[in-house]
Amino acid sequence: MRRKCLIRPVALLFAAIALMVGYGTPVCAAGQSAESEPIEVVVTLPVLKDLAEHVGGPRVRVMSLMSGLESEHSYSPRPSDLVAVRKARVLFEVGLGLEVWVSSLVKNSGNSGLLVVTTSKGIALIRDHESASEAGPVPQDDHRAGNPHVWLDPENAKVMMRHITEALIKVDPAHAVDYRNNQAAYLRQLDQLQTELIERLRNVPDRRIVVHHPAWPYFARRFGLEVVGEIVRQAGAEPSAHHMQELIMAIRKNGVRVIASEPQLNQKIPEVLARETGARVVVLTPLPGGVAGTDTYLDMLRYNVTRLAEALEAAKPN
Ligand SMILES: [Zn+2]
Repeated sequence: MRRKCLIRPVALLFAAIALMVGYGTPVCAAGQSAESEPIEVVVTLPVLKDLAEHVGGPRVRVMSLMSGLESEHSYSPRPSDLVAVRKARVLFEVGLGLEVWVSSLVKNSGNSGLLVVTTSKGIALIRDHESASEAGPVPQDDHRAGNPHVWLDPENAKVMMRHITEALIKVDPAHAVDYRNNQAAYLRQLDQLQTELIERLRNVPDRRIVVHHPAWPYFARRFGLEVVGEIVRQAGAEPSAHHMQELIMAIRKNGVRVIASEPQLNQKIPEVLARETGARVVVLTPLPGGVAGTDTYLDMLRYNVTRLAEALEAAKPN
C-alpha cells in the first residue's frame, strides 16, 4: 500500500519532466523522419501486395514483381526487380515451387538483411493428380509436392495474411497493435464475403466445370465446385490432340456446360473446346488484376464466383 503511494508522485514527476522537455521543441526531428519512412516490401504476386497493404497501411510501400497479367508459372524477372529486392526489407512469396526464380533473384540482389517469408507455410496442401507416387519420391521444393494455388481459398489467404502480419511486427514491433488491428478488420470483411459467395453458389444446381490449368482445386473445394477436366496440366503447355479429343468426349457425355478460361493463358483452346461441345466459356482470373475490376483480392473473389455462377445458371443443357 505504502509502496504504491510512493510510485505515483515519482511517475508524475517523470511525466512532468517529459512534458517540459517535449514542450516547445520541434518534435524530435530524427524520430519523425524514421516514423514517416515506410517499410520497403517486395512481393511476387499481386495477391500478396493486396494483403500486405491491408496489414501495413501507410507503414509499408509494397511492390509486386508480377502484375497479374503474366502467368504465375512462366515469369522471368526484369533488372528493375533486382533493384527492388536490393532495397527491400521484406519479401513475401507464396512458395511451394511456384516462384522458382525467387531464390536466385534474392541471391543476386546481395541483400543480406532481407527477410524472406514463405506465406504458404502451414497450409494443408492438395496434391496434383496421381503422378507423385508413380514418379517416386517427390522433392520438397517441387510443384508436385502440392498444388501451389493456395490463395484461391479465402481460408488459406487468412493463413497467408497472418504470416504477413507476424513478419511486419518482427520488422517493426512498435506498430504491432496497428498491424493486428488492420488484420482483424480485413479478416472480418473477408469472412463476410466468403459466407456471401458460398451462399451464392449453393443455389446453383450444376456446379461442374472444365478448367484451363490446375489453378482451381482449393477454390473448387471451398465453393463446392466439381472440376471434371483440365485443358492443360501445366500453364504454358499446349494440350495434345488426343487430350482435346478426350475432353470433348467427356464434356459431351457428361453434359458439362461451362469451361473456365484464364486471361493469362492461350484463349483459343477453350474457345475451340466450346465450339465443339456447345459449352460456354467464362473467363476467371487466378490473380488479382488479371481482368478489369479484379484489382483487389476481395474483388477478384467476388468476380470469379459471380461470373461462374452466372455462367452455370445461363448455360442450357447440351
Ligand atoms: Zn498456376
